[in-house]
Amino acid sequence: MYQPQIDLATGQMLGAEALIRWKNSQMGDISPAQFIPLAEETGLIGSIGHWAFMESCQKISKAENLPPDFCISVNLSAKQLKNPGLIEDIQEILETTGVSPLNVEVELTESVLVEDPEKVRDVLCRMRDIGLRVAVDDFGTGYSSFAYLKKFPISKLKIDRSFIKDIPHSSEDVAITKAIIALAHSLGMKVVAEGVENRDQVEFLILAQCDMAQGYFISRPDHLPNIRHMYDLGIF
Ligand code: C2E
Ligand code: CA
Ligand code: CA
Repeated sequence: MYQPQIDLATGQMLGAEALIRWKNSQMGDISPAQFIPLAEETGLIGSIGHWAFMESCQKISKAENLPPDFCISVNLSAKQLKNPGLIEDIQEILETTGVSPLNVEVELTESVLVEDPEKVRDVLCRMRDIGLRVAVDDFGTGYSSFAYLKKFPISKLKIDRSFIKDIPHSSEDVAITKAIIALAHSLGMKVVAEGVENRDQVEFLILAQCDMAQGYFISRPDHLPNIRHMYDLGIF
């Protein structure tokens, strides 16, 4: 499934995050929060991650009427980042699907970035060199080290939805969200608010000059062909 990310200045859909789904005939829908950690333990994450990347690229290569700078975001797990053949795998997928790396972004959580900073920096630089963008997922929840923000080629911070949930009522969350937006902008990065569920949050984020938003208020994860027409959400 794909969840749109909209530009808070114009309401345009700038991209979408690919969120994997597993439908089991006996157990029904199984959440990625349950099976991704299992896949990491068993080593299946390599093939699942490859499938998710390939599927996302095929989807945008076939979709019609997407803006030329539309960006698909794909989540990468810690184990995938350790695969020495990761960049070659990604390049091969981009070549076979004919998708430009400029239309693809990878999402990595903070904890992944700080695990082995030297190695991670090397992989991120290789990603940047082939034209891929990198977003930091769930920003603010990991063992943050601001040092990596200046050392690593990162183009976007995604504010974790736990900070967005009680906005605008929680003065602490308001302060944290404003600080993350200021930090991102002063480092030349874009900032996305995750888990946006109501109009009050959107209004706050527009005033706070957050660049983009993603969440149930805008759209639940959906099929890409159904969400591509959502340029005017009636919230601006
Ligand atoms: P995430 O990357 O933080 O993805 C956002 C999660 O928040 C998604 O859950 C999404 O459906 C949910 N969400 C979006 N908007 C809202 C909202 O307004 N309110 C609330 N309460 N939730 C919202 P989902 O799809 O269950 O995915 C859970 C996690 O599983 C993801 O968290 C990500 O860490 C992981 N995941 C999903 N797909 C992949 C994948 O292809 N590869 C890897 N490695 N991990 C994945
Ligand atoms: Ca994500
Ligand atoms: Ca997230």
